[in-house]
Amino acid sequence: MRFPPFNIFRKYLERRSSETESGVQLTAVSGMEVLQIRHGLLLFLLAAVRAQVNPGVCRYPLGMTGGQILDEDITASSQWSESTAARYGRLDFDDGDGDGAWCPDIVADADIGGPREFLQVDLRSLHFVTLVGTQGRHADGMGNEFAQRYRIKYSRDGSRWVAWQDRSGRKVIEGNRNAYDVVLKDLEPPIIARYIRFMPIADNSMIVCMRVELYGCEWLDGLVSYSAPAGQDMIYRGLDVHLNDSVYDGTVGLLMEQGLGQLTDGAWGRDDFLHSHVYGAWPGYDYVGWTNESFPRGHVEMTFEFDRVRNFTSMKVHCSNMFSRGVRMFRQATCHFRTSESDWESQAVSFHPPVDRVSQGARFVTVPLGDRMASAIRCRLAFNEAWMMISEVAFQSAGTAVYNTSLTPRKRGHPTNLLPGEDPVHKVDESNTRILIGCLVAVIVILLAVIVIILWRQVWQKMLEKASRRILDDELSARLAIQTQAFSFHHSSQSSGDMSNSNSTYERIFPLCSSDYQEPSRLIRKLPEFAQSLEDLAGSSKSSTPPQACGSDGAPHYAEADIVSLQEGATGSKSYSSVTAVNMSLLSGKDRDMREFPRDKLTFKEKLGEGQFGEVHLCEAEGMQEFIKRNLPEAVNDCLNTAEGGSDTPVLVAVKTLREDANKDARNDFLKEIRIMSRLRDPNIVSLLAVCVECDLLCMITEYMENGDLNQFLSSHQLNDETQSSDKATVSYSNLISMCTQIASGMKYLSSLNLVHRDLATRNCLVGKNYTIKIADFGMSRNLYRGDYYRIQGRAVLPIRWMSWESILLGKFTMASDVWAFGVTLWEIMTLCKEQPYSQFSDEQVIENTGEFFRDQGKQVYLPRPACCPAVLYSSLMLGCWRRNAKQRPTFQEIFSQLGESQA
Ligand code: ADP
Repeated sequence: MRFPPFNIFRKYLERRSSETESGVQLTAVSGMEVLQIRHGLLLFLLAAVRAQVNPGVCRYPLGMTGGQILDEDITASSQWSESTAARYGRLDFDDGDGDGAWCPDIVADADIGGPREFLQVDLRSLHFVTLVGTQGRHADGMGNEFAQRYRIKYSRDGSRWVAWQDRSGRKVIEGNRNAYDVVLKDLEPPIIARYIRFMPIADNSMIVCMRVELYGCEWLDGLVSYSAPAGQDMIYRGLDVHLNDSVYDGTVGLLMEQGLGQLTDGAWGRDDFLHSHVYGAWPGYDYVGWTNESFPRGHVEMTFEFDRVRNFTSMKVHCSNMFSRGVRMFRQATCHFRTSESDWESQAVSFHPPVDRVSQGARFVTVPLGDRMASAIRCRLAFNEAWMMISEVAFQSAGTAVYNTSLTPRKRGHPTNLLPGEDPVHKVDESNTRILIGCLVAVIVILLAVIVIILWRQVWQKMLEKASRRILDDELSARLAIQTQAFSFHHSSQSSGDMSNSNSTYERIFPLCSSDYQEPSRLIRKLPEFAQSLEDLAGSSKSSTPPQACGSDGAPHYAEADIVSLQEGATGSKSYSSVTAVNMSLLSGKDRDMREFPRDKLTFKEKLGEGQFGEVHLCEAEGMQEFIKRNLPEAVNDCLNTAEGGSDTPVLVAVKTLREDANKDARNDFLKEIRIMSRLRDPNIVSLLAVCVECDLLCMITEYMENGDLNQFLSSHQLNDETQSSDKATVSYSNLISMCTQIASGMKYLSSLNLVHRDLATRNCLVGKNYTIKIADFGMSRNLYRGDYYRIQGRAVLPIRWMSWESILLGKFTMASDVWAFGVTLWEIMTLCKEQPYSQFSDEQVIENTGEFFRDQGKQVYLPRPACCPAVLYSSLMLGCWRRNAKQRPTFQEIFSQLGESQA
């Protein structure tokens, strides 16, 4: 069902509201909507009808579109071709037979004697026509002819034709502006006629085609014409009151003859005859009036001619009764009847309406006509005051009804789906009401659905945010809760000891499950096991030095499961089970390489830095070369920083010592790092050379990297092609790429072991000679870069600016999250560590941005391309590392290859 009633009503209302302003208004609507319009109009009008304003109701389509008007009743002065004959001139109707409209042969210019060509519609009986619709020839887009202007002529008898004109005397009607839209035109005044002619006006050069529809109802009154003395002018207090019949369509002299006019236009005068319903009309416009001074006999005689002999029951006369201004309704009506062209019957009907000396309201006065048979009625209306004014006359005859009380739509013609006895008006009304209700319900349902969807989306988003935060807060913090206890324990023990450096507070950088951190009592129980573990680890250690301060109940054993659970707890991801398995094998395999180095062979040289576990010192290790030759593979051997000299020359090493007051967690992690590092053998991973674990003071001996950590190194350098000169040492772009490649290589190695670093950053890479880069710090952070870590409600620190969204929100650490961190590390290198990632963001904003990565609505902020970073490297590699979908991020193998290519 194609029924947009609101549209129709809106259009209709627009038209109705504007027509009072201009009197004449055209409304363009789509041709497709004509049917809808007519039903919409009906519905609206029936709903809004004031009982008396029947011409307003009388707007039924008379059958051009619907087919009630037969082809034979549609004729034309000429036709362009047989396919554009008159019968094709039906509005919004194209049966595919013809060419889609009526098109006359040649259309005359309006200026040369007016239009001659016409399309004529015979309505077979008198009709009250209130509205016309026109349309051009569209023919499914093939046609483009239409009438921009046209005129209308009409006739009641087929012989006498009247040119329609509006109340201002304009005869030309503005028509169509395109070939498809329907343009409706209210006829003000309406037409009472049987024959209507549409007469297009156009340039000679233009072929004009028309499709038309008439709207109105059958004129059951049967009145063909009335004749009366012409209305007169009144001067009321200096005001000219014109009481003529301004729309009378007959001849007008002293007498008005053979026409219809204001007395049958359906517009009744107002109580005050000086005012009118018609906007801008002159005083007295609605009324036809006479003064008794001009009628010595004291009455006005009017003759009414009808289409046929009828049995008249009554006549209704709408009169002014404004006696305060010298106007009263008639005192007496005397009517004579005539059935043929013969004489008037002598027997008259006389009626004396009661004189109303109270109300000055205009009213209908009903004159009973005594069921007299006649085809013409002559009535004499006697004056009762100086003036008599009437605005409407209507007749009622047996078997018919005057239009004022019961306008009837056209019933003749073919397609109608009405059953006998059905009222077409009500049928339309009811069906439309159902449709209207249906549409309203549908609209309401759609609106409700939209509201529900919007609300649902909002709720969903909030839930998502909450869930994210909950994961961040609850899940991670829950995992870290025990860690907090450990911290507090550490703090308290620290405060009781002589170590007062708060910077040395140990904090994990990633979440751990409870098994990773143990209560002090458990620590005490397990500590001996650690010692045993390391003893086992040392295997056939030649050191005979007995454990110092390691407890008296034997060598401690470090539970491998603890290391495994460290990995498990940190990831919480499924993919980690396989990682765990690999780590298990990695860590539980035979470890014969890690040997105890005699502490007394270490000579302190200088302090290199301070980390989470304690201090890092540069030491000379006497006999280290020999020691390594025996204990470590060649690869490690080669990369040692040996002082010049023979094999007994002391070697420079970095010695990382666990501070004395370290709590069990710190000790645990220190040992774990030893175990992890002891199995790593790669040119780009810092090598663990030896350990000192046989006494209470644990330390690990690693190769010495002369240039410290990469962050410090790069911050103190500038790019060698930078224009401004400074004291800073320089580094070239290819050096930078080389560094990146080395890190990628080291990470490639780690990923081959399925080992997740979880804290890759420049601060955790060390720089040796010739820009050699080695990855260090397996699972630790350092105070020096405290600002790089985010503290969640005081419970934990996380390197959020390097972490992937899934690591932050889901606690998920994988190779892919290491890749993300590598992207950030790459960015650091390319900016020469001159600023922190997202330096303009607070920690909270970084977390918020992480949420945007998760939502992926294009609101996430990426780190910008560093100045020295080629666009291709930024877009293909850096941004690739930060893809939301972890699976779409490149692997370290791919990264390594790509960097290798860009290096070449
Ligand atoms: P953390 O324990 O906080 O991770 P580290 O103990 O690894 O930190 O290192 C602290 C500092 O000591 C580093 O920033 C670096 O400057 C220096 N350092 C550590 N290891 C070495 C090494 N092998 N060679 C040279 N310097 C080192």
